[in-house]
Amino acid sequence: MENRQQDFKFIVDAMLGRLAAWLRLVGYDALYDTDIHDDELLEIAANENRVLLTSDLDLFRRTKDSSVRGMLVRGGVAEEVARVFKQYDITPIVIPSRARCSKCNGELVEFAETDKERIRGLVFDQTFDSYNEFWLCEDCDSVYFQGGYWDNILKFMDTVRELMSSIELNNE
Ligand SMILES: [Zn+2]
Repeated sequence: MENRQQDFKFIVDAMLGRLAAWLRLVGYDALYDTDIHDDELLEIAANENRVLLTSDLDLFRRTKDSSVRGMLVRGGVAEEVARVFKQYDITPIVIPSRARCSKCNGELVEFAETDKERIRGLVFDQTFDSYNEFWLCEDCDSVYFQGGYWDNILKFMDTVRELMSSIELNNE
């Protein structure tokens, strides 16, 4: 499969935290911080060439008046994700080695069986013993592994894929 996962960078408004997390999981750089206010969102988007995703019509209108690429995103979480993925040609597949930390946007480092000692103490002992592949965010020490929650990720991506095939984008 073609790797297009680095084509865009995003900045996401305070209302769209779950959208930011999903963008990170599929490998996109998505800034999200509830302390960033509208003026800063626009400034960072312009300076770092990020697409501003917002649910706020006024803020979206302000992107039109500046040099910032923006998208107005509304709906349930799955619909938000599907619309953004469709608009930016993002494949709804989570590949851990390509993912970013859903909590802080950091890059993940893979630890396999031979070097997983680094993970000890960061997860429950039972988890440590049960899995041989881990991905660590060195920025916030979050650990990822393909545990029970992985099924939920796959199911959500299936939902998004279906929505992407049925929704129409109304580009303004
Ligand atoms: Zn992190």
